[in-house]
Amino acid sequence: MRDCVFCRIIARESHADVEYEDDAVLAFKDIYPKAPIHLLIVPKRHIPSIMTMEGADAEILGRCFLAARAVGEAKGLAERGYRLRVNCGPDGGQVVYHVHVHFLAGGRVSGA
Ligand code: 5GP
Ligand code: ZN
Repeated sequence: MRDCVFCRIIARESHADVEYEDDAVLAFKDIYPKAPIHLLIVPKRHIPSIMTMEGADAEILGRCFLAARAVGEAKGLAERGYRLRVNCGPDGGQVVYHVHVHFLAGGRVSGA
């Protein structure tokens, strides 16, 4: 998806501060952080939204949550924890239509 900002980051055609990578998942710093630690965890395969996900997408989305666990442990957050957020569709605040998990941490993360 050449017109997808996250696919361009995955293809290394756009810069991002990558903090985690495996065969299925990439995690990088959000360009406008809303918490002291704010990463975006994305599947390397383009899936637009949870609202359009299919059965075949379930494994790779599960891999995103396993990546969140790995990031949390690498950052020493396994005890204190962190917030994972997935915005879905316009009323859910989704702006980028390549599904992503927000990883928010560093002090008590506010908001619903
Ligand atoms: P959404 O509102 O779709 O759940 O979140 C999209 C997030 O992507 C926002 O927090 C926004 O700051 C971040 N973002 C948008 N464009 C870029 C970009 O080019 N690079 C990075 N690193 N983050 C981006
Ligand atoms: Zn994409």
